[in-house]
Amino acid sequence: MKIGCPTEIKPQEFRVGITPNAAQEAVAHGHTVLIQAGAGVGAGFEDTAYTAAGAQILGTAKEVFAAADMIVKVKEPQAVERKMLREGQVLFTYLHLAPDPDQTHDLLASGATCIAYETVTDRMGGLPLLAPMSEVAGRLAPQVGAWTLQKANGGRGVLLGGVPGVSPARVVVIGGGVVGTHAARVAAGMGADVTVLDRSLPRMRYLDDTFAGVFKTSYASAGNTIELARSADMIIGAVLVPGAAAPKLLSRAQLSELKPGAALVDVAIDQGGCFETSKATTHQDPIYDVDGIMHYCVANMPGAVARTSTIALGNATMPFMLALADKGWKQACADDPHLLAGLNVHAGKLTYAAVGEALGLAV
Ligand code: NAD
Repeated sequence: MKIGCPTEIKPQEFRVGITPNAAQEAVAHGHTVLIQAGAGVGAGFEDTAYTAAGAQILGTAKEVFAAADMIVKVKEPQAVERKMLREGQVLFTYLHLAPDPDQTHDLLASGATCIAYETVTDRMGGLPLLAPMSEVAGRLAPQVGAWTLQKANGGRGVLLGGVPGVSPARVVVIGGGVVGTHAARVAAGMGADVTVLDRSLPRMRYLDDTFAGVFKTSYASAGNTIELARSADMIIGAVLVPGAAAPKLLSRAQLSELKPGAALVDVAIDQGGCFETSKATTHQDPIYDVDGIMHYCVANMPGAVARTSTIALGNATMPFMLALADKGWKQACADDPHLLAGLNVHAGKLTYAAVGEALGLAV
């Protein structure tokens, strides 16, 4: 199969869909890998790394789309890319179609077979192609929160780990899933006093069994949340209610109860954010002040560490990419119901119920 990987063109996207290591494996499986010139540069992979892996470099996205049987990307195809898709071609990337009717209509019109990273499942009921980005965002959250807490950035001027004779910062993580667990581990590793709030008792049992002595857990009732928030230097929002907007767990009025200069890091901002005062920001201008509380609400946090994110995503997507290339999408999806769960659009038809419901389209 000819597998094509164009350069990402969404603003501020530096990741790339195929790493040189993944290209090498695909070539070893007998496939041709076509990489757009410069596609990997943002993630630190020069064209020479791809040619050394046996891939071919093509000058333009147009050439890649025209030649490839399957396109492997990171972000949803932009309008100009959607025009280059064709019937029978496979597209394997993040799509997030539910809030995006324009993209959905274009993909239906293209006749291509579109498999979305974010709806591929695993045996444990997880989302294996979303998890790596949650791991990255979770581990990044205390790092950006620590920066936000610095005085020059409007923060309280508190060092996360304290120093001998000075208490560490208090960090409260709301939501103890993938993001929250990784955030709590890193914050604790930086020496902070960390408490994780969640509403799932089984999840808190798991966290307590695994991380006793590293961080504490507390049930995420409204009362516990505000009580812990009052004494926190940093609050990390990491909740997810699948398929729904994030619940608002701190109101604007409650900001006045927090410590002046406290940092709110709302990782759940891509689902609307879990603080009433959250609004999406960018890496260029990541923080803002509401009532003396510093907010960090970057919607694509993994983009800040494009190299780590690319490699983490590539590790997760590679087995599925190889299955699709080795067997063809039909057989690969027939053999693996978890990959089949990723199928969102095929030959002009919507094949994913939740997207149909969200957009009022037949499935
Ligand atoms: P997850 O499903 O692994 O974990 C979510 C946790 O939230 C679960 O343990 C759940 O029990 C808990 N929860 C739900 N409602 C709650 C409530 N009211 N109070 C307390 N806990 C509650 O999800 P995840 O992978 O950790 O993702 C968390 C969020 O981070 C999602 O919105 C995801 O889209 C987002 N995310 C953002 C970025 C970014 O760049 N900003 C990157 C990756 C993930």
